[in-house]
Amino acid sequence: MQFKNQILVDHPFNAARWTGGEITPEIVVLHDTASRLDTGSAARFLRDNEAKVSVHFVVEIDGTVTQQVPIDRRANHAGKSHYHGRDHCNGFSIGIEIVNPGRMTRAGSNARTWFGQLFDIEEHGIQDITTPEHGAGLWMPYPEPQIDAVLELLQALFGASADLKDIVTHWYISPGRKMDTNPLFPLSHIKARVLGRDDPAEDAADGQSTALTDTNQLIQVDAPGDTLNLRRWPSFNPNTIAQIPDQAILPVLRKGTFNGRDWAQVLYGGQTGWIVARYAAEITFETGPKT
Ligand SMILES: [Zn+2]
Repeated sequence: MQFKNQILVDHPFNAARWTGGEITPEIVVLHDTASRLDTGSAARFLRDNEAKVSVHFVVEIDGTVTQQVPIDRRANHAGKSHYHGRDHCNGFSIGIEIVNPGRMTRAGSNARTWFGQLFDIEEHGIQDITTPEHGAGLWMPYPEPQIDAVLELLQALFGASADLKDIVTHWYISPGRKMDTNPLFPLSHIKARVLGRDDPAEDAADGQSTALTDTNQLIQVDAPGDTLNLRRWPSFNPNTIAQIPDQAILPVLRKGTFNGRDWAQVLYGGQTGWIVARYAAEITFETGPKT
């Protein structure tokens, strides 16, 4: 595997113009190029541009991988971003750009990209999907050789570095500002394969958590100036079912720890779902004098 050498040894890479100082990457951030699909088109731009952007790897539609920044040097791929209480993800992440046209809009039987290119919806298997993270749009699926290449690259990276802990998408670290990767990216599959863990689906989530016997347990959302995602399962895969406003008060049904993080199952807007427990404060009541 050609790119493996580039990761594991000090092999000449396709040096990007905007290569920063030394970093110790802890997460991998997955992006879409939102570009033309021609091989090398996005890679050429990312390697040398006036926009001061760069990335470690580019994965073409056919699965060809180009490395442009060494994995222990900073690339400018994430911009304003936030991961589990830490800002500026470029300082501790590896960026992978996956060639894909990004969000498209309908133009008859075609889908139109932001740069004006038309793709036949049926021919390309383009799907009309709306999610809280992406909004509404038409999205092109990722071809299998490309997904295989992303998977192989991630396995090589995680095999090469014990510091790497997580795989995230750009929308996850820059919510509201970015929507890549697109809703058709098989993130939970990829995470399960690389990290050896899967989404705890509903039954598993129930099995790993405890139902509260105190039916009056309430919590209040504490996300100043923001909303809190209500998720179908206790994981960060694309499974958001509602956005809960700050200061909302919710009944708690279950509590559990998943992948080292505390979650609470709550009731909101008639739906049962999971929230990250640290973004909500428990409410205790004075129940009156005990007799
Ligand atoms: Zn991105």
